[in-house]
Amino acid sequence: MTKNSQIIHFYRKHIPAFECVPGCHDCCGPVTASSEEVAKLPIKTEAEHKVALAQYSCPYLGKNGCEVYGDRPLICRLFGTTPSLPCPNGKRPIELTDPKIELQIHQFLTETRQVLL
Ligand code: SF4
Ligand code: SF4
Repeated sequence: MTKNSQIIHFYRKHIPAFECVPGCHDCCGPVTASSEEVAKLPIKTEAEHKVALAQYSCPYLGKNGCEVYGDRPLICRLFGTTPSLPCPNGKRPIELTDPKIELQIHQFLTETRQVLL
């Protein structure tokens, strides 16, 4: 496991899970992720990426929601778990992400090469 993969694994464990509105994907859109995270996702064609971007969507958003939910990037996991990324539908975990961890995640995102999904 690379150092970045270990860091990602650590942050994943520190972002609390919560239940979304069933079938909701209101917070999905174009997102970026580190190359370590992208490497775990199934490859999408250039055309699929273009279609998604033209619709201001994500290429992994399918008819039944996120197709890569278990491997979704940190930024997708963070959404709804911090005051700075609130769920528009009022969903949240009981305990929000620790602000120190959130800050560290944002720093990690700015320090690592990010790729548009
Ligand atoms: S966090 Fe909120 S907006 Fe995003 S999928 Fe869940 S319920 Fe929908
Ligand atoms: S990876 Fe999944 S959760 Fe994240 S924006 Fe794409 S479809 Fe939504």
